Amino acid sequence: MSSLNLAGLLARATERLRQSGAGSPRLDAEVLLAHVLGRDRVFLYRESHRVPDTAAARRYRELVERRAAGEPVAYLTGHKEFMGLDFIVGPHVLIPRPETELLVERALAVLAAWPGCRRIAVDVGTGSGAVAVSLARLSPGTQVYATDTASGALAVARRNAARHGVRVRFYQGDLLQPLQGVLPTGSAAVVTANLPYVPSAAIHRLPRDVRCYEPLQALDGGPDGLAHYRRLVPQAEELLAPGGYLFMEIAPDLRDAALALVPPPRWRARILNDLSSRPRLVEARKAR
Ligand code: GLN
Repeated sequence: MSSLNLAGLLARATERLRQSGAGSPRLDAEVLLAHVLGRDRVFLYRESHRVPDTAAARRYRELVERRAAGEPVAYLTGHKEFMGLDFIVGPHVLIPRPETELLVERALAVLAAWPGCRRIAVDVGTGSGAVAVSLARLSPGTQVYATDTASGALAVARRNAARHGVRVRFYQGDLLQPLQGVLPTGSAAVVTANLPYVPSAAIHRLPRDVRCYEPLQALDGGPDGLAHYRRLVPQAEELLAPGGYLFMEIAPDLRDAALALVPPPRWRARILNDLSSRPRLVEARKAR
């Protein structure tokens, strides 16, 4: 068999992934090849006539087969970009999604305008730490706290904080409970939450790469998808300063039920849409 150059390898892998039903076969093929070669995607075009050594070609074929079987690209490369930052990911954590950048951007806006001297942000259910680390990196001066029930997730989140040179205080436990006695009541400017919100009965309808590979405990939101948020709201109300903000990422069809969790007069809440114009974020301001 003649050795294929990069262009040939990419064409063959793209075709293989297309047959397997992957959503973005060309992009996946490029990201995996760049990963195997330790280069960026531009290199694949600039040096398209290069023939990689057989070990690299074999390693690439293996990764393409795993992708064809459904494994997410980010788990195969161990990396995912979020907020322009590179995050380590693995099977213990949900892969950061582009739509979650909305939550970070809104939280950053609140923090930038926060009048208090001590600016505290708390990320609950931090997973890979993508939200917490982004807040710490992009809002210098904010003290960032983060919790998760899963020790495997916290290990990944700690590596991401170290990688980006920021201090995030991590605590293991349920929702905001681990911060009792750590942070005073009424002290936080912002609480961010991308908790599991897929209704249990809808899990089987998720795409195969999500359903079979990402941690179920990061997806399952109980009977109506809001089990975790329902418990979080009273805890957040206690921890937030007057005028502080609770952000909760949701699925579009949870819009009305999620808004009902943060009713007036104790909250002033609204829904923000993501880049595909779908309801994605509850922004709830605690009364002053
Ligand atoms: N956005 C994820 C999905 O649709 C769900 C994330 C979550 O439950 N927080 O797969």
